[in-house]
Amino acid sequence: MTNRINPRSGTAFKLAKGQRLVIIDPEGQQVSDLLAFNADDVREVVSNGRTFDYADTIYLTTGHTLFSNRSNPMLEIVADDVGTHDFLLTPCSKDTFERCYEDEPPHRGCFGNLAAALAPHGVEPDDIPCTFNVFMNVPVDGNTGGFTVDPPKSEAGDTITLEAKMDLIIGMTACSAPKSNAGSFKPIDYRIED
Ligand SMILES: [Zn+2]
Repeated sequence: MTNRINPRSGTAFKLAKGQRLVIIDPEGQQVSDLLAFNADDVREVVSNGRTFDYADTIYLTTGHTLFSNRSNPMLEIVADDVGTHDFLLTPCSKDTFERCYEDEPPHRGCFGNLAAALAPHGVEPDDIPCTFNVFMNVPVDGNTGGFTVDPPKSEAGDTITLEAKMDLIIGMTACSAPKSNAGSFKPIDYRIED
């Protein structure tokens, strides 16, 4: 069964160890912010810093594993049509809109959507770290460290598949930030495979 996350919204669900999460960009050029928490102790959460440290790169794709703040493997990328994702930047938020999108109407962003979806699982807003931003295209200049937020490289129907290495609570969005999504807001689909 394929599930849909409507534009500018989010969801949370359990993903058991060994199950695979297939994230689909149904229309193309749409980002999905992803979080993973240990289902038995939500103080354990996915960590970009740990992951970069063990991967020796900030560009993650097939074969790389997302690690937790306790250095345990949480999700392994087992297939990836796109190969361009971001793990540097925080989920877009009310403050992002105030600072970066002065001409846009206010929105609670992926942060607000994740906080609402994860609250029933015992996750508080201050527990939300940098998200793994699926399909987000943030090229970094190797000399200056400067970066830009460019349109996603994903085309309609492109997918990434991640396998759970422990029992997880997943938080996921269809991202709300104009620049991250080439200026339009589209849905994200996903399915869970045993
Ligand atoms: Zn977002």
